[in-house]
Amino acid sequence: MNRLIPITSREAISLEYRDTPIGNLLEYHNLNREYETYTQAQLLIGMCMDNRKHLHIPDNFAFIIRAGGANLRYSEFKVSYAIAVGGVRSIALIGHNQCGMVNLMARKDIFINGLVDNAGWDREWAEQHFTQFAPMFEIGNEIDFVLSEAQRLRLRYPKIQVAPLLYKVEDNLLYQVRES
Ligand SMILES: [Zn+2]
Repeated sequence: MNRLIPITSREAISLEYRDTPIGNLLEYHNLNREYETYTQAQLLIGMCMDNRKHLHIPDNFAFIIRAGGANLRYSEFKVSYAIAVGGVRSIALIGHNQCGMVNLMARKDIFINGLVDNAGWDREWAEQHFTQFAPMFEIGNEIDFVLSEAQRLRLRYPKIQVAPLLYKVEDNLLYQVRES
């Protein structure tokens, strides 16, 4: 089963998202929808810090929190702020393929050596740092993670619409993630 829904037309957007800030995000980024003028943010976007990704969206359209793996578990106060003070009612959670937070454990030596060589850390601190934090930031699989993280956010913020999306680095397009 293909877990990604390509958005190649307005009609491909799920009805629940069409004509919402989530649907507008998909239209702006994938379909070159003409930019509207906004005076306040319409949604919160959670996406990975990865440098390969750039969104095509109008000014003022969105709050954006960038964190490894699109993992918002450690950004909760900022999510709450965007909702409570910023007034957004939607969250687009954008995972991406080839994410560095997948199988983080395999990069343990590179991480430790990099901190020692590039940042001037003591090797023991670097090892402790990795051991302490890698389990918090590791994600198993991009698609499974974005689905579980969307589910967690829905339970945490029950009146907020949360959409799990995926950014493919090969074509720079957004896809809806199919939910069972
Ligand atoms: Zn990533």
